[in-house]
Amino acid sequence: MISPLAKTLKAALLEKRYTTEFPEHRESLPDSYRGRLRLDMDTCINCSACAIICPNNTITMVKVLTDKGDKLMPQVGHERCLFCALCEEVCPPKCLTLTKSYDYEAYDKRDLVTRPEELE
Ligand code: SF4
Ligand code: SF4
Repeated sequence: MISPLAKTLKAALLEKRYTTEFPEHRESLPDSYRGRLRLDMDTCINCSACAIICPNNTITMVKVLTDKGDKLMPQVGHERCLFCALCEEVCPPKCLTLTKSYDYEAYDKRDLVTRPEELE
């Protein structure tokens, strides 16, 4: 019978590693992965459909100053997002999309509330 120490040494020296050195090395993500939302402010038509469909009240329409005056655009509370993609599906010009980005973390959940200008 192999001792626990021998087993550990064998695993450390001979077996394939299952962890990676994050963030330098990253596993590839599946095509279906849904991460942080992105907004193209130039094509948003300010219809609020994304905020209305969101099942978790994650999206709030907030005022943004643009070349054409004040417009209402989506602010996303990523701390509440279910990554269900309903907002993406319903968006008429397809300017609100889910990305593959998972690089966001915060000590305070309020820091995960993302204004339209920051949804890039
Ligand atoms: S992905 Fe789902 S939960 Fe997240 S903002 Fe869009 S509709 Fe709301
Ligand atoms: S992101 Fe899309 S659904 Fe949301 S307000 Fe803009 S155009 Fe409408």
